[in-house]
Amino acid sequence: MANEATEKVHVLIIGSGPAGYTAAIYAARANMKPVLYQGIQPGGQLTITTEVENYPGYPDGIQGPEMMVHFEKQAARMGADIRYGLATKVDFSQHPYKVQIDEEKWIEADAVIICTGASAKWLGLPSEERLNGFGVSACAVCDGFFFKGKEVAIVGAGDTAAEEALYLSKLCTTVHMFIRRDKMRASKVMQERVLNAPNIKVYWNTDTDEILGENKVEAVRIKNNQTQETQTIPISGFFVAIGHHPNSDIFKGWLDMDETGYLLTTPGTTKTNIEGVFAAGDVQDKNYRQAVTAAGSGCMAALDAERYLTTKGLV
Ligand code: NDP
Repeated sequence: MANEATEKVHVLIIGSGPAGYTAAIYAARANMKPVLYQGIQPGGQLTITTEVENYPGYPDGIQGPEMMVHFEKQAARMGADIRYGLATKVDFSQHPYKVQIDEEKWIEADAVIICTGASAKWLGLPSEERLNGFGVSACAVCDGFFFKGKEVAIVGAGDTAAEEALYLSKLCTTVHMFIRRDKMRASKVMQERVLNAPNIKVYWNTDTDEILGENKVEAVRIKNNQTQETQTIPISGFFVAIGHHPNSDIFKGWLDMDETGYLLTTPGTTKTNIEGVFAAGDVQDKNYRQAVTAAGSGCMAALDAERYLTTKGLV
C-alpha cells in the first residue's frame, strides 16, 4: 500500500511555533510521548521578527529567534521527540490517523495536534525582503512600539490594515496608508475610524514602488496607479497588512475550514470536526495571532488530546 505507515506514535504535533512547542511541553509532561515535526521554518513566524517585548516573562524583551530556541529547549527537556521534517499529506479516513512526512514516510498517530500556523502575505519587492526586520514588518502589534514618535507607512485596506493603522496612529506621529484601489475593503466602522484619525494620511490608487534605505528603512517611493505620478516619503517603519494565509492546504477535504482556509474548531476547545485531531495557534485563529494566544491554545490542544486519549482508553 502506498501509504503504509512505518512508525506508530501516540501524539503527533505538526508545527514548531509557540502553539506546537507549548503543546509538546504539556503532552510530554503528561507522559503522552509527543513527536513534533518542525516544518520548513523551525520556530515559525517569530524567527523572522526581531525583538519581542510583549511576551510575559521576559521583562527586558527577547529576540524572536532566541525565544523560539527557549521554547524548543523546554519541550526537548520535558522529553518531546523533536524532528526536522514537513508534513506533506494526511489520511484521516480511519483511526489511527496517518500523516506523511517529506513526501516519503507515513506515520500513524492516536492523536494529531495541528499547529502549522499562518504566513503573512508580502508585496514581493526585493527591498521588502532585504529590509525585513530592519524597519519592514508584517505585525504592527509586535513591532509598532519601536517606531514610537516616528513616521511610518502601512499598505493594505482590509480590517487588519485598518486596525493596525489605528494602532500605529496612537504611537507614531504620522501613518501613511497606501491603498491600491479607490476604496477600502475594511468594514465601514473601521474605515470611518481610519478616515477620521487626524494623523492617518490615506493615499488612494497607490502602489508601493520601492522601500528605500541601506541597512534600515529610510523612505518609501510610491506611485499613483492612475496618474503614474511617483512620490518619495521619508519613514522609519513600513508595515505590510495585506492578509495572511493559514498553512492548511494539506488538510483540505478532511477538516472543516472557513472560506479563507482557517481551520474551524469547536468554540472554547481545539477540537476539529475529526475526533482526535486538534488545531491550535494561527492556523485556526485569524483574530488574535499573538505568540501568547498561540501558546495558550497549544496548551489547550494538549489537554484536549489527553482527555481524548484517556476517554478512548489509549493511555
Ligand atoms: P483581507 O484579505 O480582508 O484584506 C487584504 C487587503 O490587502 C485588501 O484590502 C487588499 O486590497 C489588500 N492587498 C492584497 N494584496 C495587495 C497588494 N499586493 N498590494 C496592495 N494591497 C494588497 O485581509 P485582512 O488580514 O485585513 O483580514 C482577513 C480577515 O480577517 C477578514 O475577513 C477580516 O474581516 C478579518 N479581520 C477582522 C478583524 C476585526 O473584525 N476586528 C480584524 C482583522 C481581520 P483589495 O481590497 O484591493 O483586494
